[in-house]
Amino acid sequence: MKVFVVYWHPEPQSFNSAMFRTACEMLAGAGHEVKTSDLHEMHFDPVSGRNNFTTVKDPNYFKQQIEEMHATEMNSFSAEIESEMEKIEWCDLMIWQFPLWWFGLPAVLKGWVDRIFAMGRIYGGDRIYEGGVFRGKRALLSLTTGGPENAYRKGAFNGDIAGVLRPIHRGMLQFVGFDIMAPQIVYGPVRMTDEQRKQHLATYATRLQRIAHESPIDVGIY
Ligand SMILES: Cc1cc2nc3c(=O)[nH]c(=O)nc-3n(C[C@H](O)[C@H](O)[C@H](O)COP(=O)(O)OP(=O)(O)OC[C@H]3O[C@@H](n4cnc5c(N)ncnc54)[C@H](O)[C@@H]3O)c2cc1C
Repeated sequence: MKVFVVYWHPEPQSFNSAMFRTACEMLAGAGHEVKTSDLHEMHFDPVSGRNNFTTVKDPNYFKQQIEEMHATEMNSFSAEIESEMEKIEWCDLMIWQFPLWWFGLPAVLKGWVDRIFAMGRIYGGDRIYEGGVFRGKRALLSLTTGGPENAYRKGAFNGDIAGVLRPIHRGMLQFVGFDIMAPQIVYGPVRMTDEQRKQHLATYATRLQRIAHESPIDVGIY
């Protein structure tokens, strides 16, 4: 399989970093081809604007989706956007590794989506959801939380984790055609012992060894 791992955390010694490195090493060791984007190391700029493009359709009024459609036609996405798009187009499985921030993606990863998921090239017209550009590809969210698992159940104070992740699963990944794999979630690694954290890394590694044989999940829309 071709696997693209997108990762963001501001601390290279973080537990998220350990999850990222575990995934890359395990997948490569199992014979998969792996490409990565370490957005912190890349100093990826999450702010969307005219710098997404090398062309200008309308110099007087910036409308991102109009410029995206024009850039799709002219093949004129800026180099940092183009290379990320090519990695998504290349992969069979895309993994996002991140800490849950404010019930969502941390800003740099969200900005990556804002800039890379461009109308025309990545979605548009009836090329969405089941007819999406990336149909047949799979996506897996691997994340950590501060809150404990029992706070992320139906009726608990954070609500169920499926609801927290739905805007990402449905609004971003399924929207552009991905099938969704069960998320890999490590709840509250900060409060664990070193041994417990190492066990989570080992569980993830074992899962990834057989990831090609796993089936996607239903993200519960209807
Ligand atoms: C702005 C912001 C918003 C947030 N919003 C939310 C929210 O909405 N919901 C929520 O639940 N939480 C939230 N949090 C908390 C956040 O999700 C957690 O702090 C984060 O997920 C913990 O993961 P980490 O990688 O940062 O942990 P770290 O603190 O980096 O790591 C935990 C421990 O693991 C150790 N470690 C590193 N590598 C290894 C290894 N190889 N083996 C064993 N141990 C290792 C580290 O040394 C450390 O002691 C928020 C935090 C911030 C800053």
